[in-house]
Amino acid sequence: MVIEDLSHEGNGVGRYQGYTLFVPGALPGERIQAKATKLKKQFGYARLMEIVEPAASRTVPPCPIYKRCGGCTLQHMDYQAQLEFKRKLVEDNLRRIGKIEGVPVHPTIGMEEPWRYRNKAQVPIGEEEGGLIGGFYAQRSHEIIDMEACLIQHEKSDEVVARVKEIAGKHGVRAYNEETHGGLLRHVVTKVGFATGQIMIVLITNGEKIPNRDALVNELVSSVPGVTSIVQNINTKKSNVIFGDETRVLWGEEYIYDTIGDVTFAISARSFYQVNPVQTERLYGKALEYAALTGEENVIDAYCGIGTISLFLAQKAKHVFGVEIVPDAIEDAKRNARLNGMNNVTFAAGEAETVIPKWYEEGNVADVMVVDPPRKGCDEKLLDTIVAMKPERVVYVSCNPATLARDLRILEDGGYRTVEVQPVDMFPHTSHVECVVRLYLKDE
Ligand code: SAH
Repeated sequence: MVIEDLSHEGNGVGRYQGYTLFVPGALPGERIQAKATKLKKQFGYARLMEIVEPAASRTVPPCPIYKRCGGCTLQHMDYQAQLEFKRKLVEDNLRRIGKIEGVPVHPTIGMEEPWRYRNKAQVPIGEEEGGLIGGFYAQRSHEIIDMEACLIQHEKSDEVVARVKEIAGKHGVRAYNEETHGGLLRHVVTKVGFATGQIMIVLITNGEKIPNRDALVNELVSSVPGVTSIVQNINTKKSNVIFGDETRVLWGEEYIYDTIGDVTFAISARSFYQVNPVQTERLYGKALEYAALTGEENVIDAYCGIGTISLFLAQKAKHVFGVEIVPDAIEDAKRNARLNGMNNVTFAAGEAETVIPKWYEEGNVADVMVVDPPRKGCDEKLLDTIVAMKPERVVYVSCNPATLARDLRILEDGGYRTVEVQPVDMFPHTSHVECVVRLYLKDE
């Protein structure tokens, strides 16, 4: 079988006697042998058995646990080819779903060093012959496999996890057991401020009491240079959700800090924060460029999270109004505004599709609208409000080209012109695609 394409999940797509098969690990242009694993009416899945003719884009995955882990899906593809795959995926979606053609989709902005880029790891902990192990769940299972290094995480993360396993194990900490609901340590979460070098360790426990807690914490502090915060999060629920409701500082500060461009962010155990800080700066740089601010504009940042884009834009805007559904994120956003001494920002908790129409009814309009919705895209009510409000410029930051294309069609029909699209690679070696779009109101 010959592989013709890559699906949005990064699986090879081929046809066998007219029937479509998805083959994980296979690349476009390859002639392969595969064995069907799951057959449905319209399409099926197959396991790659042999590569008869490899593609020029094939490369050897550097990660020794690549196949078992499943966290990355494109390590077997040359990085330049990954970037082009992502660009083309955006272009195809715009054309097929959005009927948008002739709009430049620029080459994906990639990383010079597309490894060790993540600033946050969430590592499940288990046990083997009395010792603690930690790493990842084997694909489609809850079996924990021990791991020494994850090549997309910051090196410090590997170091922290290794020390926690060793030190907590030595002090008699047992790993949580999903089946019996016994044991203590469920996950270790690490966060690293790339710009500041500050490190947070979060121990997620099934209960309050940690044996030899003070000794354990002191040993962790002295064995991992850079640690500025150790916190415990208690989660006693029988569930796959990682965090529980209660968080306590065991040592150091409640927050670590990081900077993107000239803006500083406080990051707590629970706060959402972009996981690839290097590319985030490029993504937001593009958003700022597309917003083309002169200092006179009122800007609305819908789906603002902890205010990352809002604060970035506030450096050049008259005023930025951020809206976000999670109240805790809005608290973080306000704290971050104070931290940076920014007074020209206002944050509101609520649904973008409820709050922004209300602002509009009250006569508050934006000159520039920025949206950065979750995978399902913008709510139609919000899009209708944008069309009615007519901000001169719209900047759409998207993590899902399919819903992006759908939403751009609505904006185009409502009087906007899609000017250009810039994909930015936020998650090298995975099939995630992020992009920023510049839209202008058409001249009437
Ligand atoms: N712009 C932010 C976060 C983008 S992620 C950043 O770059 O850091 C998308 C955000 O939309 C999440 O924080 C999510 O909580 C929020 N969200 C989801 N549905 C929403 C809705 N209906 N209204 C407002 N915010 C919403």
